[in-house]
Amino acid sequence: MNKKVAIIGGGIVGASAAYYLSSLPGGSQIDVTLFDEGAGQATKAAAGIISPWLSKRRNQQWYQLAKDGATTLMTLARRANLSTDIYQQTGTIITRTNEKDLHDLYVLAQKRHEEAPDMGEIERLTAEEVKACIPLLTNPQPGIYVSGGARIDGEALVSELLAQAQQVNLTVKHQQVTFDHQGHLLSPTGPQRFDNVIIAVGPWLNELVEPLGIKVAVRPQKGQLIELSVPDYESQENMPVLMPEGERDFIPFGHGKLIVGATHDDEAGFNLTVTPEATQDLLSSATQFANYLTQDNITRTKVGTRAYTPDFAPFFGRLKAYPQMLVASGLGASGLTTGPLIGRLLAGTLIYGGTPDWSNYEKPLTNYLS
Ligand SMILES: Cc1cc2nc3c(=O)[nH]c(=O)nc-3n(C[C@H](O)[C@H](O)[C@H](O)COP(=O)(O)OP(=O)(O)OC[C@H]3O[C@@H](n4cnc5c(N)ncnc54)[C@H](O)[C@@H]3O)c2cc1C
Repeated sequence: MNKKVAIIGGGIVGASAAYYLSSLPGGSQIDVTLFDEGAGQATKAAAGIISPWLSKRRNQQWYQLAKDGATTLMTLARRANLSTDIYQQTGTIITRTNEKDLHDLYVLAQKRHEEAPDMGEIERLTAEEVKACIPLLTNPQPGIYVSGGARIDGEALVSELLAQAQQVNLTVKHQQVTFDHQGHLLSPTGPQRFDNVIIAVGPWLNELVEPLGIKVAVRPQKGQLIELSVPDYESQENMPVLMPEGERDFIPFGHGKLIVGATHDDEAGFNLTVTPEATQDLLSSATQFANYLTQDNITRTKVGTRAYTPDFAPFFGRLKAYPQMLVASGLGASGLTTGPLIGRLLAGTLIYGGTPDWSNYEKPLTNYLS
C-alpha cells in the first residue's frame, strides 16, 4: 500500500513540497493530500522579488538558505516549465542616493558574486541608465544592476505547482484542519490517518500545534501592497525590479502591471483589512519615483500575513516529540525566495528518510519550538 502524506498549508512551502513529492524519484509512490484554508496566505499577497545577494543581514545561515533558494527557483522554473508570467529573470536594480553607499554596495556585490555565480552580471548604472532600463520612472537614481534577480507571481506559481502535482499523486482539499491531543489530524469530515504530515501553515502554527503541547516563537505581521495599471508601458515586458532605499519596492510585471509594496505592520495581528492610510502611504512612495501615478492607477490592494521569529529567520525540520511530522515556518519577508528550497528539503526527507543536518541553513529547531 502507498504511504500516505498530508500537507497542511498551501502557500509556497506546502505547494513546493507537494510539487517535489510528485516529481522527485520515488515520490510518485506516495499519496499526498494537501489541506489549505487559504485566508491571509502570504504567498498570494507577496510582492515577488527574488534578489537576496545584496542583503546586509548578518545571519549567515539565512543568507545561505536565501542564496541557494534563489538558485532553486531558477532550476524549478526550467524543471516545471514555468511561464514568464509566473517567473522571470528580469534582473534587479538597487538604487542609493549616497555615492559611498553605492560604492560599498558594489564592492559587496562583487564579493558575494565569488560564491554566488547565479547573481549573473553586476553593473553600476547612472541615473540615466536606470531610466533606460525602467522607462516608467520619472525620478531615477543611480544603482547596481544584478542580472540574476527575478520576479515571481506567488499566487500563479502555487497554482501551477499544485496543478502539476495533481496530475501525479496530489489531492487538494480547501479545508481547515486541526490536531487533537494525540496528534490525530481532524478534517471537517472527521479524523484522517496519515503516515507523515508536513505542517506549513506560516503564522498560524502556534494555534495548530497547541493541542500537541508545543509552543512556537512565531508571530504574525501584516503586509499590504498596491497593484497599479501603467498602460503606457504595456509593451515593456522585461523591466527590472527596482529596490530603492527603505522598504518600498517597485515590481514591474508584464502587460502594464506595476506592484508597489509592501508595508510591515507588527501590531495588526491577523487582521486582513485594507487600510486607506497604508494605501496612501504606498502611493506616495510610488509617486516619488513615478510622479504621474495617482489613485486612479490603483487596480488592486493585497493583504497577507507573514510569519516572523525573534531572529527573523525561518526554521524547518522534524518534530522531536512527533517524528512523523515535519514543520516549517517563520519565512518572514523573503519566503518566496527560501520557500521552494525548504519545500524540496522537506519532500526529500519524507521520500528518502532520516533527519538531515541542515545547520548550514538554520539554527537548531529548539530555538523556535518548546
Ligand atoms: C505583502 C507581502 C510582500 C512580500 N514580498 C515578498 C517578496 O517580494 N519576496 C519574498 O521572497 N517574499 C515576500 N514575502 C514573504 C512571503 O510571501 C512569505 O514568507 C511566504 O509566502 C510564506 O509562505 P508559507 O508557505 O510559509 O506561508 P503562507 O503563504 O502564509 O501559507 C500558509 C497557508 O496555510 C494555510 N493554513 C493555516 N492554517 C491552516 C489550517 N489549520 N488548515 C489548513 N490550512 C491552513 C493558510 O490559509 C495559508 O494558505 C511577502 C509577504 C507579504 C505578506
